[in-house]
Amino acid sequence: MLKILRRSVQFATLAVLIAIPYLNLKGIGILTGSLYSLAIGPVWITDPLSGLQVMLTTFSADGTLLLSILLPIVFSLVFGRAFCGWICPQNLLSETADYLRSLVRIDRPLRLRQSPVPRYAVLAATLGLTVLLGFPVANLISAPGIISVQISEYIMAGMVGAEVSLIGAIVLIEFLVARRVWCNFVCPVGGLLGIFRMPKTLKVVYAKKSDSCTRCGACVRACQLGLNPMGGRIYPLCHNCGDCIAACKKAADMDNPLSFRF
Ligand code: SF4
Ligand code: SF4
Repeated sequence: MLKILRRSVQFATLAVLIAIPYLNLKGIGILTGSLYSLAIGPVWITDPLSGLQVMLTTFSADGTLLLSILLPIVFSLVFGRAFCGWICPQNLLSETADYLRSLVRIDRPLRLRQSPVPRYAVLAATLGLTVLLGFPVANLISAPGIISVQISEYIMAGMVGAEVSLIGAIVLIEFLVARRVWCNFVCPVGGLLGIFRMPKTLKVVYAKKSDSCTRCGACVRACQLGLNPMGGRIYPLCHNCGDCIAACKKAADMDNPLSFRF
């Protein structure tokens, strides 16, 4: 049920991204923008990374911009990186590539040890370059922003920009070389969202005292990011997709060893 719900949200997001340019072409402007910055009527929602870069390049922050990044920040403080697990179209693409690769049943040649450090390094480097160059460098590698803008460009102008090659490269590398490299090790959008956590942020909790856990490992196998929800310390990499909870053979039991908790 959890997985069906998540897929529905992912496809609904994709449908909205496709609908926006069509509506705009027909002169309906209730929804405009992209995953860099989206307007729903008079309400603006801006990706915190894009907003931060505007502040770093202009050395100023107006109230509208601050308000527009507030909603995603509060969302992340409450639900963790659920944007990544439930909304981001790059995640949907990477999950699809991972599923197709699983049909091949041959291990990828590169197995990387999970760590949030490379992603923080990319985030720091792109923000540093943004200040130095006075240009939003991190946006150049914002996969969700690129996908949403390119969908729009294709529908409105019948062509796509060179940026789509980045998305193609991510999918190819993850299919051929190493599993889920982008979200785990590179993406600055996910890197920044992972910082917005507090003790009460939604998390996957493993009830160690539960005797219903058979240690079958289904949850570990279900995690595309290669995390072990039984082992703890899965944050900030875990994006609260809930696949491990859904995969647990005891998921229907009252005494489910894995669950979402605030
Ligand atoms: S880490 Fe980046 S590409 Fe991956 S799901 Fe999050 S925003 Fe999307
Ligand atoms: S640990 Fe569970 S909730 Fe977190 S990313 Fe892996 S499968 Fe998703």
